[in-house]
Formats: sequence, C-alpha cells, structure tokens
Amino acid sequence: MKALFLTAIGKTEVREIEMPQPGPEEVLLKIGMVGFCGGDLNGFKGLFELQEYPNILGHEVGGIIEQVGSSVPDSFIAGQKATIYPYLNCGTCISCRKNRKNACQDNKTMGVRRPGAMTKYIAIHWEDVHVSHKLSLRELALVEPLTVGFHAAARGRVSNEDCVAVIGCGIVGMGAIASAVNRGANVIAIDIDDAKLTIAKKIGVKHTINSSKVDLHQALIEITNGDGPDVIIEAVGSSFTYRAAVEEVAYTGRVVCIGYAKSPVEFNTGLFVRKEIEILGSRNCTNEFPEVIAYLEAGKFPVDDVISMVVSIDDAGAALEKWATQPAGITKIMVDLDK
Ligand SMILES: [Zn+2]
Ligand SMILES: [Zn+2]
Repeated sequence: MKALFLTAIGKTEVREIEMPQPGPEEVLLKIGMVGFCGGDLNGFKGLFELQEYPNILGHEVGGIIEQVGSSVPDSFIAGQKATIYPYLNCGTCISCRKNRKNACQDNKTMGVRRPGAMTKYIAIHWEDVHVSHKLSLRELALVEPLTVGFHAAARGRVSNEDCVAVIGCGIVGMGAIASAVNRGANVIAIDIDDAKLTIAKKIGVKHTINSSKVDLHQALIEITNGDGPDVIIEAVGSSFTYRAAVEEVAYTGRVVCIGYAKSPVEFNTGLFVRKEIEILGSRNCTNEFPEVIAYLEAGKFPVDDVISMVVSIDDAGAALEKWATQPAGITKIMVDLDK
C-alpha cells in the first residue's frame, strides 16, 4: 500500500509499505481522510526541531474500523468511523508522573517521531481510538487540530466572564476560538486574512480585527473599554504577535502560548511584573477529544469553510509544497486516501 514519506527537508515521496497486522490490543483502521498539520508543514520546511526524517507524515485522521484485535473491548466494531489520539508518552518523566502526559519530555507524535497515518491502513492501540456515530471522515480528521485549540482555552481557564482575544486564525486558533465561544466568553479574532476572520465570525466571535489594516492596540482598547482582553491566546508564533500578547493583555490577565516561535523573542519583562500577568504554555491536548467530537456533532463548526483543498496521496507532496510557498488562504489541506 502507498504511504507519503517526508524523506528530507523539502522532499516528499510516495513509497510502498507493508499492510500492518493488528496486535491483540490494537484496532486496524482503514484511513479515509488525513489533514496536513502545521507541524507537517514545519517539518517540510525544516523548522521543526523534533521532526525525524524519513517518516510517514500525518496524524489528523478520519478512518473506518476494519478489524479489531482479540483483547479490544466489544464497543469497538468493524465499520465504525473513528479518529485517533496520535501522541505517545513515556510514562516516567516528570510531566507523565504529574499526569501531564501531553507535555511528556519524550513524546512521540505520529508523523514526527514515529510513523504517521498518511497511508491506507494503520494498526493502533484501542485506547487511542475515538469513535463517532455522526461525524464524516473529514470532520473526524479535524478533531485533533481542534483539540489543541480547546486545550489552550482550558489552560487559559476561559469562562463566560472573560473577554478573550485569539491572535491567529489557523485551524488551532479556530479551535481556541470555538472553545472560548462555547465557554460563553466574549471573543475577538485577530488575523491578517479577511477570509479567516469571516470563518471566525461563523464560529461565533463578536469582534474581528484585521491587524494589517487597523491599529491592533487601538482596536482592542475600543472593544474592551480601555482594559485590554482578560485572556490572549497566541496562535501564530511570531515575535510581533508574542510581544503584542503581553502588551495588550489586561492587568492581571492570562497569556496562553501555542504558537511555536522559530527564534528567541525579546520581552519587556516589566510588563509581566507590573500587570501581574500569567503566562501559560499550551501543548498538544489532554482529554479534549470527547469534547471536540461532541462540539462537531452539534454542527456548530463551519467545516467546509476551513477545508481549503482535498487531494489524492499522489498529489499530496505538491499540495504541501504549495502550502509552504503560498500559504495565503490555506487553512487545512486534506488528503483523501480513497481518491
Ligand atoms: Zn496536528
Ligand atoms: Zn513522559
């Protein structure tokens, strides 16, 4: 069967691999749809220090259970649609000992440090399989990236008393927006792409700011009556947006960091002290899969608007290259394994 390999920086290749045999505790999943992640993109560009080459890409999955191992619980049945939890933690490091396995020091994400899912079949432990009776394969492939945003909103303890600004409306930022809206917050979406801000409005934000067209500080001051947002979620990873998050957040506010800055960022640390802000890192997700599946099942998310293109595995490498060179307007590229 075919599999899409990232063989080196800037190079992909479709190779033939053996079909996996599920162990007693594993589920054999027939892959239908796989999304390209920002991590895949950074691995392709050589900007992701954890990326191992060569490796099969892909960890955002919509598939159908084909077969279950002898020790898999009866609730998993062939024919069910499902997505997967793609992380693997070591169980012994300090994060794991504190039950913060998403921040495992030796985490192995599929497609990054172990083989990914951009192929026809994968065998995976049943505990990492999440079934939905309602979602389509493309919706299931959106679950994992949205969980990363949902986790960020959880880290920021977002409540209905908060005004929350999300900087960056990629798919992870949209997950943070969706979760903050769902928690009843007053949400401001910030991006430099009007198309993405239009999608954010469909998710339910009250305000949008195109920071390439208007002054970000002035806009935030007007919306928040001079206070600044209680929570700012940074989902870009540039030094400008990181500094803006610290500068614009309200006194006593929280800044949640999901964006991966590619180089060190300089801060005026006096702001940390004077405003007594909390700065919270947010990595991957913990137990947000059922919450995101329920959210998508409720039909509240504009799924079709965020899927920018669907390609076959043979065209997937070219699509990834296009995303790397012309990123404007691309939120999510999906690879259809049945194409
Ligand atoms: Zn991802
Ligand atoms: Zn660990």
